[in-house]
Amino acid sequence: MKYITLRDCYVNDRLWRKGEVYELPDEMNKSEKNFKPLDEPAPAPVPDKTEPAPAPVPASALESEPEPEPTPETLKCPSCGKECKSVFGLRAHMKIHK
Ligand SMILES: [Zn+2]
Repeated sequence: MKYITLRDCYVNDRLWRKGEVYELPDEMNKSEKNFKPLDEPAPAPVPDKTEPAPAPVPASALESEPEPEPTPETLKCPSCGKECKSVFGLRAHMKIHK
């Protein structure tokens, strides 16, 4: 019967490496701490951490981020200081300086 070695152990003057599978003789003294028969279900493998489950999206992220309100400075013409009522107004105004 094949056994998987559960931990590094020294049995019968031989080192058995953890995780290795060996064909072990029936007469061999196999501590269940050291060897596990392969026909038993193997312990569940550790989930691969390199591929994490997608994180739940926070509800707040579903709402579209509102455009930041333009500060008064942005509505002020850097050339002549004229304050415009809107970004579009400022853009239109800036054309006169070109
Ligand atoms: Zn201006």
